Formats: sequence, C-alpha cells, structure tokens
Amino acid sequence: MLPRVSVFSLGGTIAMGAATSDKGVSLSHSAEMLIAAVPKLADIAEIEAQSFRQLPSPDITISDLEALAREIDKRFADGVRGVVVTQGTDTIEESAFIIDRLVKDNAPVVFTGAMRNPTMPGPDGPANLYHAVLTALEQQARGIGTMVVMNDEIHAARYVQKLHTTSPAAFHSYPAGAIGWIIENQARIVTRPASRFPIALSTAHHGPRVVRLAVGLDEDGALVDLALRAGYDGMVIDATGGGHVPKAMTEALGRAATRIPVVYASRTRHGETMQSTYDFPGAETDLLDRGLIPAGWLGGIKSRLLLLLLLRNGAGEDEIRQAFDAWCHPFGR
Ligand code: ASP
Repeated sequence: MLPRVSVFSLGGTIAMGAATSDKGVSLSHSAEMLIAAVPKLADIAEIEAQSFRQLPSPDITISDLEALAREIDKRFADGVRGVVVTQGTDTIEESAFIIDRLVKDNAPVVFTGAMRNPTMPGPDGPANLYHAVLTALEQQARGIGTMVVMNDEIHAARYVQKLHTTSPAAFHSYPAGAIGWIIENQARIVTRPASRFPIALSTAHHGPRVVRLAVGLDEDGALVDLALRAGYDGMVIDATGGGHVPKAMTEALGRAATRIPVVYASRTRHGETMQSTYDFPGAETDLLDRGLIPAGWLGGIKSRLLLLLLLRNGAGEDEIRQAFDAWCHPFGR
C-alpha cells in the first residue's frame, strides 16, 4: 500500500489558469486539478487533496494558518506520512515560518508553489509539486519541521527568502543555505536545523497588529509616532546596515519602545544585527539603550511574524526578548 500524503491548496500562481480578461491569469485550479496535472504522483503516494483556501498569497491571514496548523496535526494523527501545502510564492516564506512554529507533529510539512503559471511555456508548478511530495515522503525529513521546495531545492522554513520577482530560482536560504535538493526522484537532505522553536496555537479572536517599517536616509520618526497612534501592538524596523537609523528617528523609536515591543532588524536581509560595534546617535548601541530588541539573524519579515505569534499568546516583554535571543543562539549560550 502506498503511503498517504495530504495536499492542501491555498491558491497562488500554481493554481491560476487561462485568463478570463486581458489583464492576466486568475485563480482557477482546485487541489484535485493540481494533483491530476502530475500523473506520476499516483506511483508514489495515495494523495488526499483539499482546496483549503483559494487566495492570492498576500490575502492569507494568520487565522487561516492557525486553522491550517490544526488541520495538519489532525491529518498526522490520522496516519498521514507527510503534508504538502501549495500556495502563492509571494508570501510562502511567511506561511511556512508560521506553520513551522504552530504544527506540533514531527512529520514533514512541505510548502511549494510556482513562479510560471500553467499557461506559460515551461510552468514549474507540476515539477515543484512532485518534488514537494517526494520530500514529504522522505524519512530523513522527519523532525525538521516545515520546508519549502522550489526549483529542485529544499529549504528550511526559517531560512528561506523570495529574492526575485519572476525567476524560477527566486528562493534562497540565508544565513545558512538550502538543506537539501532533489536528484533522480529522491529528496536528499544534508543539513538539519537546530531546535524547532514551537509556539502554542493561540485562542485569540482579535489578533494584535505588528507594523514593519523600512528605514532610509533622511527619514524622521513621523511614521513611528503615527503607528503608535494607530494602535499597533508591536513594531519591527528594517534598519540600515547592522541596525542603524537616522538620528532624527531615535526619539520617536525610544518613545515607542516604552509602550510596545520594538524590534530592530536589518534591511539588508542578510547577516545578523549588531549590538556592540558602533557608538553614534541612531547606532545599534543607542537603539539598545532606548529599549529596542535586536532581531539577530531572523530578518524583518520573519521577526514581524515571530512577534505577532508571541503577542497572540499574550507574551510580555521579557518573554519576547528571550525568544529573539533564543533564535540567535539555537544551541544555547
Ligand atoms: N506571484 C504570486 C505567486 O507566485 C501570486 C501569489 O503569491 O499569490 O504565486
């Protein structure tokens, strides 16, 4: 008997079909249609397909993903070997990161999507889906948590980033590189990330909001104050370099940090935020003195999600600081 794999589709380019207007493709393919487009899947797994949502990926919400995490754990409890989730690539790194935190079971969850829609020459969706199922079936993928499979590569959810608007090779892992690849119908895993860092599913109905602000030269702190007035519960700033902002922003950021958690990440998206290198107004040492929390290597996009999930669980400032610190030191200090 073939092993069972559950495929949940959430929409995205992989599920988009022939244009009904002259403006481009739109959502049209159910989970069953995605599976039917890859007949080889029937040789390797018994697929249970579910059209879970049908959305462009920026419209996916944290509540959608909490519901998905519950459903995935139910499927694992029911004996499914692995789970594949198909969705739009624009936010795949975000969904995968959240599901990685929320799913309790150790069995593999693999996200995939497509950069080229099914109406284009050489669509990548079918191959990506086949490779995702191969990865979900792989024994060595157990215990890794959530992965993203695109363009023959296997990425850990915590590292993967979309770094190109259209290329099938849009996905890369920083700071630690892909954890494996697909070769001759096998998923080859060569690296296992440290600790899973699980977060409990929240029961909150009205979730907190976290804003992420990108910083550039000659900015003042007006947006920071506006965000406070708009009632945001947390803030992540994508600072320049290792964690630097214009002097004109520092007071507003300090004010914000006395009221809500404010995390500083680097807009470079690669490398770790600094804590003790520069001493000038707006440098990382100044931001730390003003009560901001360093994101470490996590980056602004994922830092916002981590903060959201922690706030949804009612975490206070100490717990939030400890969580970011633990991400920076996955093997302990
Ligand atoms: N361009 C997107 C994609 O790759 C659309 C989306 O994210 O839904 O699927």
